[in-house]
Amino acid sequence: MGDRPHESTEVKSTDSGPGRGRALRIAGVSSLVLLVLAGGAAVLWLSTRASEPTRTAASGKRPSVRAPVRLDTLPRPRSAERPRRTRRSPAPAKEREDDGSTGGGDGDRASDAAAAKAEKRQEIAALASEDAELEAALSGDRGPGSGSGEVVSPAPGEVIARFGRLLGSRHAGLDIDVPAGTPVNAADSGRVAISGVMGGYGKLVCIQHTGTLSTCYAHLSRLRVEEGDSVDFGEVIATSGCSGRCYEPHLHFEVRDRGEAVDPEDYL
Ligand SMILES: [Zn+2]
Repeated sequence: MGDRPHESTEVKSTDSGPGRGRALRIAGVSSLVLLVLAGGAAVLWLSTRASEPTRTAASGKRPSVRAPVRLDTLPRPRSAERPRRTRRSPAPAKEREDDGSTGGGDGDRASDAAAAKAEKRQEIAALASEDAELEAALSGDRGPGSGSGEVVSPAPGEVIARFGRLLGSRHAGLDIDVPAGTPVNAADSGRVAISGVMGGYGKLVCIQHTGTLSTCYAHLSRLRVEEGDSVDFGEVIATSGCSGRCYEPHLHFEVRDRGEAVDPEDYL
């Protein structure tokens, strides 16, 4: 009788003691392994997540040179030197006259306007015929450049001819109305890819800013940089004029992406 409780205790302890303990230990070890595995996976996932935004941010700074850059949202360190923007200039009477018919006024004025329009048409056609040559010279990805990819207007003045189809040809840039002898500023830092004379473009400077983005400045009167020179944003690279095929003194300004002319006003 006195053994029974002892026996039963022993039986109980035999059934539930070591057996359950082993089971619990196994369960404990398994959950520990699972925890370690889950923890490892979580650490891996977190480290992947942590490195991803860095890459995105690094490339996100320059996602594509095609992305329009608004200058008023991108303060530059040397804003005091930044040339005045030309984007919001109203279309001058000159362009409206060129694009419309030359009716009205006396015969002399009409014939002058017709002559000016013919000259302008010839200039745009001349530059259009040389576009492929310039595109080839500035094409491809040219490795990292010193520029930011942000472009500012290279000279203060009204835009007198915009980018796009104009007088029967494709106008590859902006014409900025500046008197001959006006200093022309580099629109961004970079390396001078072209400095010389080229047909209708006349005296021409092109600067490579990033691997893909370049700018060109045409009809210049005096070149102040040589090919291979490094230039800073805002640096005077030339003075404006009317060299090459030119209807009147102005600065012809182009922005090129992998050599292909794009609308400068998308970048200004
Ligand atoms: Zn032009």
